Amino acid sequence: LVRFSGVQKTYDGEQLVVRSLDLDIQRGEFLSLLGPSGSGKTTTLMMLAGFESPTAGDILLDGKQITGTPPHKRNFGMVFQNYALFPHLTVGQNVAYPLTVRKVPKAEQAERVKKALDMVRLTGMADRLPTRLSGGQQQRVALARALVFNPQLVLMDEPLGALDKQLREHMQIELKELHRQLGVTFVYVTHDQGEALTMSDRVAVFNEGVIQQLADVETLYEAPSNRFVAGFVGDNT
Ligand code: ATP
Repeated sequence: LVRFSGVQKTYDGEQLVVRSLDLDIQRGEFLSLLGPSGSGKTTTLMMLAGFESPTAGDILLDGKQITGTPPHKRNFGMVFQNYALFPHLTVGQNVAYPLTVRKVPKAEQAERVKKALDMVRLTGMADRLPTRLSGGQQQRVALARALVFNPQLVLMDEPLGALDKQLREHMQIELKELHRQLGVTFVYVTHDQGEALTMSDRVAVFNEGVIQQLADVETLYEAPSNRFVAGFVGDNT
């Protein structure tokens, strides 16, 4: 679905934050970008989203260059920890927002919003204000907003980071189930190995701007390609 080819990124012409990235994202997979803080995961996701441009290299979507395409033309769903809901709009209006921007007719909007809220198990919550919801519910509203226009690719950056442990584990199971139902492609940034290993089909392990290994969960456990991967993946504390 997406190919990164020889992608590099430096901010302000200083050191390379992403060194040389070759990455194929397969249609329908749940791919996690896992690594310690500062390893380049978020930068990679921002380049995929279109908020940052690569310093060198190409990003292709279905074989077509999207390297310079602005975010709104890429049509990806996005859920970020700091990509907040609009507090003055209701849950329903928040979820409808991407449809309003795309000038989808009102009747169709209502139908799609209802479906998206059902999907994240927030049926009947459309008229509430997001500030009246729990953290987990707010994150589900953000997810419904990301899914409502049927994007082929959903990008998430630590979407569960602000939740307590119990709720986070619960949401991990829900996200995985939702991915299974929808069959869309999820790219998920996290520094939490447990989270990545629980949910993903494949995991790209980042360190110092380089993918150390890209493999399915079983392979990462059984055949880590180097000491860093073995140490990081094995560290479940
Ligand atoms: P984290 O989990 O902490 O976000 P990360 O693996 O996602 O880590 P990045 O956010 O991609 O890592 O950051 C990689 C490096 O790039 C860091 O050293 C960071 O300071 C730097 N960096 C990130 N964004 C910018 C920016 N907008 N301007 C300058 N430097 C940046």
